[in-house]
Amino acid sequence: MLRIDELHKSFGSLEVIKGVSLNASKGDVISILGRSGSGKSTFLRCINFLETPTSGTISLSGEKITADKAQICRLRTRMAMVFQQFNLWSHMTVLNNVAIALKTSLKLPKKEANQRAEKYLNQVNMSDRLHYYPGQLSGGQMQRVAIARALAMEPDILLFDEPTSALDPELVEEVLNVIKKLAEQGRTMLVVTHEMAFARDVSNRVIFFDEGIIVEDGPPNEVFTAPKSEQFKQFISKEY
Ligand code: ADP
Ligand code: MG
Repeated sequence: MLRIDELHKSFGSLEVIKGVSLNASKGDVISILGRSGSGKSTFLRCINFLETPTSGTISLSGEKITADKAQICRLRTRMAMVFQQFNLWSHMTVLNNVAIALKTSLKLPKKEANQRAEKYLNQVNMSDRLHYYPGQLSGGQMQRVAIARALAMEPDILLFDEPTSALDPELVEEVLNVIKKLAEQGRTMLVVTHEMAFARDVSNRVIFFDEGIIVEDGPPNEVFTAPKSEQFKQFISKEY
């Protein structure tokens, strides 16, 4: 479904992604682990062209993605991203936050857009907050709205960049449970996370980034019990 070949990304003279290749199949839930600054966010942002890769290719269902504007707009309807800081519009209600892109990007009529928005807000248990503004919600509720917004695009792939890192500890679980439910539904997801239990129990594959390359890649039961790289061995010894 997703194929990434030899991706490189530099900011000026700083090379952040140094040749990353990755294939993801339908239904894969891939946890991406790594220290702060190892290039995880840059990698995700390159995948949906929030950053333009310096070199390398990205294909989605066999279609090679280029920096062409129209193609990127189409790509964004097939890949949806959930950010650490939620990125909701503070002046829009919960319902409108989810419906807006359905009207502007997918060109759905208002009634249909609202119906679809309500359907996905229901999936994340936010039906009782449709007319609230983000400022009236907890962090966990805001992140669930952001997840509903991503789902409402009905994308092929969901990209999560540390979806629980900005949350108070007691709110992490409600968001992880939503993501876990999506995994059980067979959705294809790339999840940058520091939640080791999530990586171990929910994903079917774990990737560890170190200084812009993948140094560990395998099913969780393999990488956590018998890591191949020194870097990942050290990382998990500190995390546990
Ligand atoms: P991670 O998400 O793993 O913490 P990032 O991808 O955010 O890492 O960052 C990797 C490196 O790239 C860091 O050194 C960071 O400072 C640098 N970086 C990220 N974005 C930019 C940017 N827009 N301009 C310059 N440097 C950047
Ligand atoms: Mg990051």
